[in-house]
Amino acid sequence: MMAALRASECGANVVLLEKNKIPGIKLSITGKDRCNITNAEPDILKFVANFGKNGKFLLSALHRFGIKDTIDFFHENRLKTKVERGGRIFPEGDKAKDVQELFLRLIKRNEITLLTSCMIQNISQRQDTIEKIILDNAEIKAKNYLISTGGLSYPQTGSTGEGYNWAKQMGHTIVKPEPALTPILVRERWIKEIEGLSLKNVRISIYQNNKKQDDRFGEALFTGLGMSGPIILDMSKSIGRLLARGQTDLFIDFKPALDFNILDKRILRDLEKYKNKSIKNILPEMLPKKLIPVILQLAKIGPGKKGHSITKDERKRLRLFLKQFPLTIRGLLGFNKAIITAGGISLKEIDPRTMRSRIIKNLYFAGEIIDLDGPTGGYNLQVCWSTGYLAGENAAKN
Ligand SMILES: Cc1cc2nc3c(=O)[nH]c(=O)nc-3n(C[C@H](O)[C@H](O)[C@H](O)COP(=O)(O)OP(=O)(O)OC[C@H]3O[C@@H](n4cnc5c(N)ncnc54)[C@H](O)[C@@H]3O)c2cc1C
Repeated sequence: MMAALRASECGANVVLLEKNKIPGIKLSITGKDRCNITNAEPDILKFVANFGKNGKFLLSALHRFGIKDTIDFFHENRLKTKVERGGRIFPEGDKAKDVQELFLRLIKRNEITLLTSCMIQNISQRQDTIEKIILDNAEIKAKNYLISTGGLSYPQTGSTGEGYNWAKQMGHTIVKPEPALTPILVRERWIKEIEGLSLKNVRISIYQNNKKQDDRFGEALFTGLGMSGPIILDMSKSIGRLLARGQTDLFIDFKPALDFNILDKRILRDLEKYKNKSIKNILPEMLPKKLIPVILQLAKIGPGKKGHSITKDERKRLRLFLKQFPLTIRGLLGFNKAIITAGGISLKEIDPRTMRSRIIKNLYFAGEIIDLDGPTGGYNLQVCWSTGYLAGENAAKN
């Protein structure tokens, strides 16, 4: 949609083909229906570093249409924004649907021809040029073409991968698409009891063969089958790689600001202060309520036991489960629940200055179909805005 808008602003006559009844369905559910539009990271090099070794590919697109341009774009189109923790930028009204509707309005205003419920049968190519697109009951001939069919995640929103097939058919290399930013599944069945519990300011570490492999601080969430939330999603790629090698364990530190000694003193103090209260009524000072029965069961402490009768060993076990709460990772959820798709059109075959294919001279790419995947925090939509803008502009001018 961004590419179509920019191309039409540059004077092109644009036809936008969408297989759903309406474009932007995924956009309308982003950021838990609030749409984390972009990230306020001011340092462009730090921004691209979040995409690993592929990140540098984005530099030209970000120079042409960067974070500030994105925010200005939304403000100019009467969608105010706000910045939250970690630089995450959201619409002030907290509605992802407003972002989708803004694009639909601009598509209409710019008189872009929008063909919805549209099934593309074939793309006809002669040597290094696309000749036409063949639809069910029509053909479309254009000077330039752009593919931005997204990845394979949340296929119910329309991203089912046809774009990869078309690109492959025209000679492009597709780096194997894999689910990324996915929730994890754990072996422990009792996790169901704490479903929906969200955690703030926790540290989660990932271990394999007793060696720490990854470690993040922030927010997470217990699901019925495992865990999700920003730090889990951001670690899911490395967890996937570790799982392929063997057993992978996760430890939650519910009290990262306190070391073992200080935490011990704090527990002692609370046990002393509330010595005639049951332990289950002492812990709410320290832990979310839902977690208490689970921790007490793991630490083998009866919930009714009074503060004064908690033994040294029980206190030690309690401290251990507060600092190193263990879970065994069983797997990752697949494309159905992946926020994005890693892999896609090989960067080697796209000119980063224009987003033009290096194989087909009148073909451009934009968005998630390209082999780029970033962390949570608005990074992935910024890829769409920047590459879309650059691709649209160049497709109109060349
Ligand atoms: C639940 C969820 C929450 C997310 N939240 C955020 C967030 O808050 N911030 C963030 O930065 N990123 C977020 N993302 C990621 C972000 O939404 C995607 O990276 C982004 O939508 C990709 O945009 P795109 O235009 O490349 O692809 P898509 O949004 O997938 O759009 C592709 C379009 O192409 C159409 N299409 C596909 N195949 C065909 C075909 N054969 N013919 C015609 N049309 C076709 C589809 O119907 C769709 O409309 C989230 C993703 C999910 C799933």
